[in-house]
Amino acid sequence: MGTNEIVQGTERLLMGNYGRVPVAVVRAAGAKLWDADGTEYLDLFAGFGAGGLGHCHPAVVAAIQAQAAEMMCVGNLFHWQSQVDLAAAVTAHSFEGRLFYCHSGAEANETALKLARLAAGEGRYKIISFEDCFHGRTMGSLSLTSQTKFHKGFGPMLPGCVYLPFGDLEAVAAAIDEETAGIIVEPIQGEGGVNVPTVEYMRGLRALCDEHRLALICDEVWTAPARTGQWFAYQHYGITPDIMTLGKACGGGVPVAACVARKGFDEVLVPGTHGCTLGGNPVCAAAGAAVFKAIEDENLVQAAVDKGAQIEAAIRDAKIDKVTGVRGKGLMLGIVLEGDAKGVFAACMARGVLINVTAGNVVRMAPPLTIGADELAAGVDVVIDEIRKL
Ligand code: PLP
Repeated sequence: MGTNEIVQGTERLLMGNYGRVPVAVVRAAGAKLWDADGTEYLDLFAGFGAGGLGHCHPAVVAAIQAQAAEMMCVGNLFHWQSQVDLAAAVTAHSFEGRLFYCHSGAEANETALKLARLAAGEGRYKIISFEDCFHGRTMGSLSLTSQTKFHKGFGPMLPGCVYLPFGDLEAVAAAIDEETAGIIVEPIQGEGGVNVPTVEYMRGLRALCDEHRLALICDEVWTAPARTGQWFAYQHYGITPDIMTLGKACGGGVPVAACVARKGFDEVLVPGTHGCTLGGNPVCAAAGAAVFKAIEDENLVQAAVDKGAQIEAAIRDAKIDKVTGVRGKGLMLGIVLEGDAKGVFAACMARGVLINVTAGNVVRMAPPLTIGADELAAGVDVVIDEIRKL
């Protein structure tokens, strides 16, 4: 089937909730995609962050194939090895705790919300989140998302969601009352424009949570694993969350998400309180375990640091007047422009380079951690060229 048939089929049979481009992708490998007409694209946005290892990483493909041939789904009534392998890898690189598996970042945040309320006890139900945050589209995670443009038509939101300015510790201290159960924060805001909080701010949130016995939830759906040059982005701030949510890149392309909780928060879910039929199914969990192993084997945490520095240097050396700064860490970067950045997306795509624009004026780049230095340099040249032409 050609592009037209696939695009028309999509429009006829799928709901219109995504702003899609009229391109039908037929194959992907590493940092490259190919469409039905044979056009090649360099993916500098890694499938909205889900392609951290690049597309169809051989170790992940092999793990999926081997597991699929053995056992795909038997239900969470039983135990199986790949769930243990993935949880062992996550906790070995983060903190001592236990996991709940699901399929999407939104579900992981739903779990965190339930955990925080359960752990806080009767009557404590409020969760604080921050301006420009994004936590997902299900009703609970949407309620945690402060950006009201996403709420339109879906109200009322869940009671007890308190939105505060990002970066203002005094506002947080003033908002905490006897009904507060937790705080949810992205250690680097993604959809909101690649906004990096200060170390003092993140440590201040930790201290407030300790003082008031609140759950500090770090939403690492965009930032982990390894994306920002640490296994998990909270590690940049010298703090440890009580609860951490994961998704996107954890499955190497298949749906793997998790809510990770440390002692004191990991025991509140007992049989009957929560569940997800296919969560952590053998194939997805095997893919996740292979992702974490590949990050170790290929030293991809360091690769994020090095390649992020490569992009930042190229942007700095280009000395473009309308670039007012580069935000982010590792391979999660936002190039901030003086004016509207929307045109950069289409212009780069026309030249076979995929990036993203968010918050109106931020060109977002998050290439696969495995991208080659040369292909990255070639892609960044195109981005610089198109920003210059704006
Ligand atoms: N949390 C953050 C920080 C995100 O960026 C996203 C999606 O972009 C989500 C949660 C929701 O993840 P999902 O789309 O897998 O539900």
